[in-house]
Amino acid sequence: MPLQFIVCDEAQFCTVEQCDQLALIVDELHVDVYAFGLITDFKGLLFDGTRRLLEIADQRIEMQVEARCWCGARATNNARLVNDKVVLEGETVMVGDTDKNTSAPLFGDVVRYELLCRNHYRKKQVSAD
Ligand SMILES: [Zn+2]
Repeated sequence: MPLQFIVCDEAQFCTVEQCDQLALIVDELHVDVYAFGLITDFKGLLFDGTRRLLEIADQRIEMQVEARCWCGARATNNARLVNDKVVLEGETVMVGDTDKNTSAPLFGDVVRYELLCRNHYRKKQVSAD
């Protein structure tokens, strides 16, 4: 059976070069590519892969899963919490322990993400506060 389509998940982590390769698959191999991913990182900035895909994609569809902040407002930001504190600086990709059920991290810091509305992102107010 010929290749019908390709699904690329976590596409925000693709490099610009990889995004262009996905476009080549569409144009030269005539195979549809569906890329799924986040729009912005924890700083509220476009991921490199996302930016490139937005530039070159034939179609952009916002997922209909409406993300909500703990206050009920529409979530616009994916806040990074390191040891339960919202951080606005740091590398786009961070390696850490994301298991919130462990009392002590296996290595490094405890890193988790929480969806917040713009207002609570700015005030760094997460649900536990
Ligand atoms: Zn909120």
